[in-house]
Amino acid sequence: MYKGGYAGKLLRINLTDRSSQEEELPEELVKNYLGGAGFAIKYLYDEVKPKTPALDPANKLIFAVGPLTASGAACASRMSVVAKSPLTGAVGMALSGGQFPAEMKMAGYDVMIIEGRAEKPTYVAIKDGQVRFRSAEKLSGMLTTDTQLIIKDELGDQNYRIACIGPAGEKLGPMACIVNERRAAGRKGLGAVMGSKNLKAIAIRGSNRPNVVDAEKFKKARQAMNQAMKDSPVLYPQFSKSGTPMVVDATSGMGIYPINNWTATGEIDMVKGLGDAAQAKMIVHKAHCHDCPVGCSQIKLVTSGPYAGYMSEGPEYETTYSLGSTLGIDYLPAVIAADRLCDEYGIDTMSAGVVIGFAMELYEKGIVTKKDTDGLELKFGNHGILLEMLRKITYREGIGDILSQGTRKAAEIIGKGSEDYAMHVKGLELPAYDVRGAKAHGLNYATAYTGADHNRGYAFQEIFDIPVPEQVDRMAIEGKGRLTKWNQDVRSVTCDCAPMCAFLLDMAVPGIACRNTADLVNAAAGTDFTPEDIEKIGERLNNLARLFNIGEGFTRKDDTFPKRLMTEAIKAGPSQGQLISQADLDAMLDEYYDARGWDKDGNPGEAKLKELGI
Ligand code: SF4
Repeated sequence: MYKGGYAGKLLRINLTDRSSQEEELPEELVKNYLGGAGFAIKYLYDEVKPKTPALDPANKLIFAVGPLTASGAACASRMSVVAKSPLTGAVGMALSGGQFPAEMKMAGYDVMIIEGRAEKPTYVAIKDGQVRFRSAEKLSGMLTTDTQLIIKDELGDQNYRIACIGPAGEKLGPMACIVNERRAAGRKGLGAVMGSKNLKAIAIRGSNRPNVVDAEKFKKARQAMNQAMKDSPVLYPQFSKSGTPMVVDATSGMGIYPINNWTATGEIDMVKGLGDAAQAKMIVHKAHCHDCPVGCSQIKLVTSGPYAGYMSEGPEYETTYSLGSTLGIDYLPAVIAADRLCDEYGIDTMSAGVVIGFAMELYEKGIVTKKDTDGLELKFGNHGILLEMLRKITYREGIGDILSQGTRKAAEIIGKGSEDYAMHVKGLELPAYDVRGAKAHGLNYATAYTGADHNRGYAFQEIFDIPVPEQVDRMAIEGKGRLTKWNQDVRSVTCDCAPMCAFLLDMAVPGIACRNTADLVNAAAGTDFTPEDIEKIGERLNNLARLFNIGEGFTRKDDTFPKRLMTEAIKAGPSQGQLISQADLDAMLDEYYDARGWDKDGNPGEAKLKELGI
């Protein structure tokens, strides 16, 4: 069925017996799951038995790219990394851009499955089909930048692309991430899965771009996409210059930017120091992912004050919230320093920040005291404790050990009613949109297969007022079930399977996403997908992931929100008075399950599974 586009191979790496083997990429897999997250979740579902502990050698760590990776299509820079998550217990799927994904494709692989556990710290070096297992003993405990530099030196080739873990992954912290250059597969603790396998890094180098089957058709499809990007009033004029921090201004203006662990959303004055204008002053350099003409990444440097010398690629919108506003911190230099430290430790900026915000609220309420914090004053706004808290979480010291396990688990350990202040869904900490004022965005948090994850079904209709497929009222309940299904399915296939950068979907191509993906993939791979086939693949993926989670014991009761969102209204600003009651949630869930062909408990029905060929 496919004639090009794909590398056509899967690489299995077994760390237990230090072996590797190549397999042909199955045609059926391409037809039903397209690539990226589709491939990876299919292998997870087929090969990791229900209830396998996430840090057991039997869990698998799967890297997957798609037919557009390294094809020359704009912003097809992503890879999907998948395992059972140690943070949520559900499907753990994180995306990362940068250069590693394209290098993996050029090294000859669409999928890499990491199995077993190495006896000693190990890294794997892969070059055009040759796999070597190398000792990482001297890299143990090393930060991520140094790890990458030393591996490149050791391999004698500065062009290797490296995905690695830092100390947080080695300490098996369930919020640990995988870092490649200055990018991260950040969420759901996949760095801990890598650490549990005693795998410090994968270094990869390739020299073969896959062939494009029909160059003329591919050029035409690329032109259509490029034109949509040029026509976007936001993508080049604003996003290219400001990057994701521009969204701080947008959501603050809507009154949905969370502050002080979601107790002060709408208090716009509190985040003035974090907005686009403040961030722009700190930019010293810009960066691009592979084949990206947009280049939204900004390198920011602190040049004076207590954090002078810290530099980070970011902070992105989400990190500005998690290490800034939700901690009551609007001092950008502190956020930049904390962002950099998270990347060096290999810890997810979002989960790490939200769990600190949770601890701050407990401290202010007297549930946690100075006795528990080794004397640190965990007050909202106190940026002086931020770097030390990140260090404690990474190395699992004192209260850091409790918090390192994520907000859900920390609340269980601390008790005393602390769960009421724990901002997570299914164990994944909430992203930076107070969904009391954006209901479809919220329903996605409640139902996404990875937990509270803005990336699984971003409601750009509510956040950017884009009327595709229709105009919506962000406060309304009705219609949000159907909209969320559409958002999740289209995003899953175009951004997670093809895969292309999600910012294109949000800002440039929402109306033509499935058509354009079909055109690009067909021209590159010689396939014959229709736009309907493409959308169906997104639906199939969401159903398969749901089945995996059902096998882990997740039910309708897990499709929910933190208590605060359902019982406390937003107190100030343009979204004042908004909440999502239990009745609102039930109505949205009923509509969503119905749109999905699932029963009232959220189980995919037999007819739906048959229709999808699962
Ligand atoms: S728009 Fe930004 S995140 Fe997306 S591919 Fe380009 S640089 Fe990477």
